Amino acid sequence: MSVVPPGGTIGILGGGQLGRMLAMAAARLGLKCAIYAPEKDAPAFQVCDSHVVAPYGDHEALVAFARGVDVVTYEFENVPGDAASVLSGLKSVRPSPRALSVIQDRFQEKSFARERGIATTPFALIDSDASLLAALKSVGTPSVLKTARLGYDGKGQKMVRANDQLAPAWDELNRVPCILEGFVDFTRELSVMAARGQNGQVACFDLVENRHENHILRTTLAPAKASQRVKADAARIATDLLEAFDYVGVMAVEMFETRDGRLLVNEIAPRVHNSGHWTIDGCVVSQFEQHIRAVAGWPLGDPSRHSDAVMTNLLGVEIDAWRAAAAEPNTALHHYGKGEARPGRKMGHVTRLYPLGLRPDG
Ligand code: AMP
Repeated sequence: MSVVPPGGTIGILGGGQLGRMLAMAAARLGLKCAIYAPEKDAPAFQVCDSHVVAPYGDHEALVAFARGVDVVTYEFENVPGDAASVLSGLKSVRPSPRALSVIQDRFQEKSFARERGIATTPFALIDSDASLLAALKSVGTPSVLKTARLGYDGKGQKMVRANDQLAPAWDELNRVPCILEGFVDFTRELSVMAARGQNGQVACFDLVENRHENHILRTTLAPAKASQRVKADAARIATDLLEAFDYVGVMAVEMFETRDGRLLVNEIAPRVHNSGHWTIDGCVVSQFEQHIRAVAGWPLGDPSRHSDAVMTNLLGVEIDAWRAAAAEPNTALHHYGKGEARPGRKMGHVTRLYPLGLRPDG
């Protein structure tokens, strides 16, 4: 165990809204944050103790950054492997570079889950003409072709409706390594945020339902309207994954619920996640504080939900309605302080709170 006490400094790679909300949570605990990001106007810079503007490939800057912090964490999963290994030679990196490298690759991620008896969407690797034919046999169509690395919010994905569409779809993705995933006719998309401390303590937040538009998260409903058995299954899956990775920090597990009530893991995020934003206003301790506590070696906090919640992302110019949102009762407005409101860009979110059990939606 290595504990960072109040007054210590957490180093965070990435300066987006997740880094910003991590820094705000750390400040509440008397901890400082240093943010490392390549953009000179990263939103997290506005709320942290110090920051570095440098590319993730700049070894000298990474070394100087590591010297000034007590522990290193990150707010996005595409941290280059080189950067993680430079930093881990100098300071603890949490979650571990091993978890990061498995989760960065969809094929490794899903194989890791499958090997541990955790159900995933059906999948196969495509990295050659022969494996493409094998994937057609084992997974078939309809299916979704996804780049193994560096995809997010539906980028690097192609729907494959019939067998003869697969080869052209792979060409369009420049024949980079991909996985072919069976198309799941799900009833709901669910996610669970869970944390593991340095002492192995695990704490799960309530299971939530996520609704996407154009592949971008629009709304999270907390809690999900799911059976007790599904809720227990989701917590067990998250706990098994945390333990299998010997993980320290917060992890998000995104799942599909099938028509017959099974959970299939779609994606793991080794970080705080948009579908956990509701925890800031709906829980005793938020996902952001929980992550900071875990990486700083503190006891985990109480993840209990004290209110039901609906979190809605404010995308692009929707942020211009901040004044109306600020005037709404039982509503928490979060503005990320970003400059340009490009279409689809996550500019802020609102969380509408309801007494337990009294959320009006279905
Ligand atoms: P991902 O980037 O893997 O999280 O996928 C983005 C979104 O695409 C998901 O949230 C789903 O709405 C949809 N999607 C991805 N994979 C599948 C699948 N195998 N079957 C059905 N829908 C999918």
